[in-house]
Amino acid sequence: MAGMLYLVPTPIGNLGDISTRCREILSSVDFIAAEDTRVSLKLLNHMQIHKPLVSYYEHNKSLKGDKIVQRILEGETCALVSDAGSPAISDPGEDLVRQCAEAGITVCAIPGPCAVITALSISGLPTGRFTFEGFLSTAKKSRMTHLEALRNEQRTMVFYEAPHKLLNTLEDMSRVFGSERRISLCRELTKLHEEVFRTTFAGALARYEETPPKGEFVLVVEGAQPEEEKTCTMEEAVEQAKILMEQGMSRKDAVRKVAQETGLPKNAIYDATL
Ligand code: SAM
Repeated sequence: MAGMLYLVPTPIGNLGDISTRCREILSSVDFIAAEDTRVSLKLLNHMQIHKPLVSYYEHNKSLKGDKIVQRILEGETCALVSDAGSPAISDPGEDLVRQCAEAGITVCAIPGPCAVITALSISGLPTGRFTFEGFLSTAKKSRMTHLEALRNEQRTMVFYEAPHKLLNTLEDMSRVFGSERRISLCRELTKLHEEVFRTTFAGALARYEETPPKGEFVLVVEGAQPEEEKTCTMEEAVEQAKILMEQGMSRKDAVRKVAQETGLPKNAIYDATL
């Protein structure tokens, strides 16, 4: 009879956040697949759990995935852990879950620490409807295409970001969403220096241009106002046209598109882009 795959979340900072159920599963499985075995070994030693570890990360996942599936089909149980937080959420795991599901293996996800949910819940922004956007691409063009596709998104948006890319990201977001859009920057969650900075893009830029950002961040961004309440200024329309041009659209096409979408005069937008 086939074994099982457990997705086991681990603390995103505070070691006290590992649950009794997670401990029990980690102690009872046949082996643990870990994103970085050195990181997971520290946590397992802390809990005095000694189990065989195999590595499963971005660059070996196709090879290792097959082996893990084979072992589970032969009757072993496996727990998948990532370095911190919930496996399969901007972390390796998505493919292993798919492979197991395709092989008819039962997958059991244990609820627990997850940076996106922790940040959303304390952001102070609407939580009823939200969209998780993960990490933006490091390539300028695809970042802007991604952000541009979210310009009129009305749901709260959640992003992961590394500290050294934060300023660039805030600048790009401010261009697309407007400097007065609200953002909650959730830093070092569950750790000693946990902080939630509820501000606007203008406020965030002012602060982090002054003091370089440190630690891990989740960015929670307010959604756009509903269409009927929204009026686009000439300044915003021109910015929109410039972004489309940077993405390779001709001036004429970019201006036509923006004029159609905003209802503002084509000639005025055209002149302002020159
Ligand atoms: N799977 C993990 C989860 O769901 O929590 C996320 C892994 S992803 C590779 C790492 C990113 O999560 C970091 O770059 C940061 O954006 C966010 N993150 C993780 N821990 C955090 C923390 N303690 N405080 C703030 N953000 C955190």
